[in-house]
Amino acid sequence: MYRKYCCARFGIRHEVSREEGINLRIVKPYPEHRMDTHNVYRFYLTPGYKEGQKKVVNHISIRYCPFCGTDLYGFYRSDFYINEEPGFF
Ligand SMILES: [Zn+2]
Repeated sequence: MYRKYCCARFGIRHEVSREEGINLRIVKPYPEHRMDTHNVYRFYLTPGYKEGQKKVVNHISIRYCPFCGTDLYGFYRSDFYINEEPGFF
């Protein structure tokens, strides 16, 4: 299925594998870890990492697209975009 992105650059960084930095991971934290019940997804920029590298992965949580400025919390509101396990970061 075709994914609609706020901009092409965000789409590219989201679709690359987790090993290829810099990439974007979208996570839906477990309910008990959600501080904000209205915005259940979290968006992370990472320098790339291997599966199983848990807890040592550098990452920064972002709210706005670094390329086009879109409010990610408002734009991506579907499980369809999740590309990392809950609780990973
Ligand atoms: Zn964008």
